[in-house]
Amino acid sequence: MKAGKIQTVAILGGGPAASTLATLLARKKIRVALYHLPKRAPIIVGESLVPAVIPLLQMLGVEDEIRAYSMFKPGATFNICEGENYSFLFKELIGTTRYAYNVPRDKFDDTLLNTARKAGAKIIEAAANVERIPGTDTVKLSDESLAAAADFFNGQPDLIVDATGRVRLLPKLFGIPAQEGRRKDTALFAHVDHTQFGHKGHVHSTLLDHGWSWRIPLPGKVSVGVVIGTEHLAKFGATKEERFDNLLKQDSVMAKIAGDAKRLTPVMEYMNYQLVSERMVGGNWALVGDSAGFIDPVLSSGLFIGMFGATLLAGTILAFAFAPLASDLDEVPDRCG
Ligand SMILES: Cc1cc2nc3c(=O)[nH]c(=O)nc-3n(C[C@H](O)[C@H](O)[C@H](O)COP(=O)(O)OP(=O)(O)OC[C@H]3O[C@@H](n4cnc5c(N)ncnc54)[C@H](O)[C@@H]3O)c2cc1C
Repeated sequence: MKAGKIQTVAILGGGPAASTLATLLARKKIRVALYHLPKRAPIIVGESLVPAVIPLLQMLGVEDEIRAYSMFKPGATFNICEGENYSFLFKELIGTTRYAYNVPRDKFDDTLLNTARKAGAKIIEAAANVERIPGTDTVKLSDESLAAAADFFNGQPDLIVDATGRVRLLPKLFGIPAQEGRRKDTALFAHVDHTQFGHKGHVHSTLLDHGWSWRIPLPGKVSVGVVIGTEHLAKFGATKEERFDNLLKQDSVMAKIAGDAKRLTPVMEYMNYQLVSERMVGGNWALVGDSAGFIDPVLSSGLFIGMFGATLLAGTILAFAFAPLASDLDEVPDRCG
């Protein structure tokens, strides 16, 4: 790919990393199309934001909309042993943003996707598929995916960005290995009607008999995740629903804080999520968000890393396009630093 020639971009995936990138590029008149699967899981992890996300929401112009359906999050609480809490307020920390939000992910993703659409990105409601161009480090959209874009790209796009999250479309296509973290936990996740909370609005991370749990207060419900060593799962039942429900009742810590909670949703299961791709760019492609890597849910950092990574990638793409670097992008690193 020749320098100065990125004028069309295809983004695979419709999560926060994809929509952030699409908005920033479309605002600078890059022709960008985003492939989005309209059918999604009933609930999505990634509901607890860190304060560093707020400047990104402000830059995208979506904070007011997100505030209206989210829970204000003034701090975080870690319950390490019974009676031993480590609780802090973001306003006591160093940094320019002193609060965050707990967000319902379906609404949050819709807000970001609509923002990309309004900015001029083409949203294609279809699964994206790509093929490797033999003997090269480059990819192309499959005939079907290209046809779904109609004549939008006028041929193949200059750049293809994989933002498919844990699907990791391009790393799998190229057989790119990932460095895996040491923890081999399983996270079981559902929404329930209520749990106990020590501090209003805080994400609570609590040590359990065989792992830890998160409790994220959302308007009218609570997101509960139970993260335990996979070897302990079988004794709590055969299905993920049985295991989640029994963990709430039978774990000695969960029983006290959520033993009488009523589950409102199906249970989602996540395994082996700690990974970083050993390569993140190629001849005409790049990875962003979870497709490139994810650390661990205990840090609540996934959305920040995905969205901030999208701003850095947008800046790089714009530097290779016809426009000078965008002024709104120039501000981001300082405000998040
Ligand atoms: C157990 C657990 C708990 C977590 N908790 C938090 C938390 O509290 N806070 C936080 O910030 N982060 C958290 N995360 C991380 C967070 O979920 C991710 O970092 C974040 O969702 C990544 O955003 P993304 O846009 O890269 O990918 P995703 O949000 O996964 O979006 C990818 C999108 O691509 C779509 N897609 C996939 N394949 C295709 C295809 N072929 N064509 C078109 N579309 C496709 C998918 O349907 C999806 O909509 C958690 C992660 C885990 C595993």
